Amino acid sequence: SLFKPDYDGLYLKSLPNKIVHRAIINNLDSVSYPVSQIMPLVQTVQDRFVVEIQRGCNHGCRFCYAGYIYRPVRQRDIQGVYDIAINGINRSGFYEVSFLSLSAGDYRGLDELFSRLNEIFVSRGISLSIPSLRVDSAGPALLRELSRVKKTGITIAPEAGSERMRRKINKDITEQDVLKAVEVAFSYGWELIKLYFMIGLPEETEADIEAIVSLSYKILDTAKRYNKRPDINITISPFVPKAHTPLQWDRLEDREVLITRLNYLRRKLSHPAFNIKKINLHLTEIEALLSRGDRRVADLLIEANSLGAYLDAWTDNFDFSVYQRAGEVFKERYGFGIDEYLKTRDKKRILPWEFISTGISKEFLIRERENYSKGIWTEDCSISTCSMCGVCDFEEVKNRINDGRGLNTAGGVKRPSVTESISYYRMRYAREGDMIYASHLDIINILTKALMMSRLEPVFKGKFNPRPDISLGHALPIGVYSTTEYFDFALKREYASYDVKSAIQRFLPAGLRVMEVIASKSRFESICKMTKGVRYDVYSERLPDISVIQNLLSQESIRVKREKTDGVKEVDIRRFIKDIKLSSGVLRVYLLYENEGTGNIYEILDLLSMNNRTDMIIKKDRLYFTEEEMDYEISNTD
Ligand code: SF4
Repeated sequence: SLFKPDYDGLYLKSLPNKIVHRAIINNLDSVSYPVSQIMPLVQTVQDRFVVEIQRGCNHGCRFCYAGYIYRPVRQRDIQGVYDIAINGINRSGFYEVSFLSLSAGDYRGLDELFSRLNEIFVSRGISLSIPSLRVDSAGPALLRELSRVKKTGITIAPEAGSERMRRKINKDITEQDVLKAVEVAFSYGWELIKLYFMIGLPEETEADIEAIVSLSYKILDTAKRYNKRPDINITISPFVPKAHTPLQWDRLEDREVLITRLNYLRRKLSHPAFNIKKINLHLTEIEALLSRGDRRVADLLIEANSLGAYLDAWTDNFDFSVYQRAGEVFKERYGFGIDEYLKTRDKKRILPWEFISTGISKEFLIRERENYSKGIWTEDCSISTCSMCGVCDFEEVKNRINDGRGLNTAGGVKRPSVTESISYYRMRYAREGDMIYASHLDIINILTKALMMSRLEPVFKGKFNPRPDISLGHALPIGVYSTTEYFDFALKREYASYDVKSAIQRFLPAGLRVMEVIASKSRFESICKMTKGVRYDVYSERLPDISVIQNLLSQESIRVKREKTDGVKEVDIRRFIKDIKLSSGVLRVYLLYENEGTGNIYEILDLLSMNNRTDMIIKKDRLYFTEEEMDYEISNTD
C-alpha cells in the first residue's frame, strides 16, 4: 500500500509525504455515456435505464458523505440528457428511465426536459422517475410529468422534525415546504410516500424527537385531505458519523438512548397509516465502525468472516455475536475494543483517512462543525456565494449548472399519430441451448425487453403500474428443451406476422428461437386455459424397464411432496398421469392439465427411479388442446 501507518490509538502519528487526491471529471459532457448497455438476461433490482444528470450536491447537509466527497455540482447539458434518455431506451428495452443525481430536483430545466421526453415516451408506456425529491423542488409541473405513466414512489427526507435541528444539519427546508410537497404529491394521485428521519444527531433534545411526531401527524393530516387512506412509510435511522464530513468527529449516540427514542417514536407513531421500518441497531454499530474505521478494521472483518459472517446486509444472515467474538480477538491484538471507533474524536489529531484528500479543507469542516452548534446556515454555493470549501480552482473545477435552454427534440422520432388499431399476436418459440436453464421469470423479462426493443409499440395495461399486455404459457421445468412455448402480446398497430417474427427474433439471445407468429383482431384465449395435456420425450441410456412403468401406472394414488410458499404440501399426482410409453428407445410421458395444474416431469422421473440425469435429454415438443387429440396419438403410438 501507499504508506505504512504509524498509529497512536485511533489517530495517525503523522501523514505520509504523498497525499491521495480525488480525481474529478470537470465536465460530464466531455466523457462518453454508455447508451448501448449490456442487457442482463435476468431481471435486476434496478430494472431501468439510468441517466446521470448531475454529479455533486452543494446543499451542504452536514451529515451527508456524498454531499462532501462529490463536490462541486456538475450538471450534464440538457440536450445531452435528452439524447441519452432517448437512445438508451431505444437500445435497451427498459420501460422506465431514472434520472440519477444526489438531488435531481436541482437540475435546471427538469420540468421542460420531462415534458419533452413524455411527448415521446407516454404513448410507448415508458415512465420517468427520480430517486428522491427535495421538497422545495416538488412543484406541480414536475409531479405532473412524473405521474404521466407510472407513479413511482416519492421519497421526502425532512431528516429532522424540528426547524432547530434542520438548521444545524443545514437542511434548508421548512415545515411548510414539506407539507406543500406532500399536498402536491397526494393531489396528483400518489397514495404512498416515504419519509426519512434521523435520530441521535449531536445536541439533539427530547423536543426534537417530539417534533418528528408532530411533523409526521401534520403530514398525515395533509395527505388525508386528498386520500382517505394514505400510506406513509417512515424510516427513522440513527445518525452515523461519516469520514470527510463536518460531523466526522462526533460519536454514535449511546445504544440505550437510541433504543429509548426509537421506542418512543414507535409508540407515538402507531397509526394504521404509518409503516415504520425496523432498524437493527447492531447493524448501525457495524456501519459506524466501517464508516470511520482504519485499515486495522480489515483484520476484524477477516476474523468475523472466518467465524461465519457472510452477506450480512441480509438481516437474517446477520449475527452480531460473531462480531463480538471477532472484537475480542481484535482487542487482544490492538489493545482496545471496537467500541472505541464509535466514540468522539479529537479535532486536533490526525484522523486515519486524512491521507486522502477530497479537496475540502479541514478548516472548512471544522468551521462547518461550529456552524452546526450555532445553527448557522451555509448557503448552497451553486446558487449563492462560495463558502470556500477548497474544492474549486474556478477555472476547470467549478460548479457547472446547465442553462436549461435550447433543447432540440428533433432526434426523438415521434411516430406519426395513427388511430390505434390493436392487434393480438401469438408467438410460438423454442427454448434450447443455455436458455433451457432460464427461469420462467427470466424468460418473461427477456421476451418483454425484446418486444420493447423491437419498436413494435406494445399495448400497456394497468393504471398505476402499467406493464406490456403480455401472457405466457405454463412455466417450463428448468433443463427441458421445448419447441412449444407460447408468448401472447398486443400491439397498437397491425403488422404482418413475418415482420413481427423477425423484429422480435433480432433481439433474442441464442437459445430462444421464434418458430411462428400468428395474428388476430381479437384477444387469444389464454394458452394456459387451452392446454389440456403435454408430452415429454425423455432420451437416456438408462430407460426404465416396462414393468416399472406398468407398476407406476397401476397405482390409484401417487402422493408427492411439493414445496409451496406456505410450507410443504402433499399432492396426489396420479390424476395428471395420462400414460407413459416406451417407444423406439424414447420414454414418452403424457401428462394432463387439470385446473391449469399438472404433474412435474421430474416428479415422474423420480418415481421411475431415473434420478441420475447426467446423460438425459428431456424435450417438450407437443401440447394438446383436447384430450381426444391426446388419446388418438397415444393409441397410435407403439
Ligand atoms: S469551492 Fe466554493 S463554489 Fe466550489 S464547491 Fe466549495 S463552496 Fe462551492
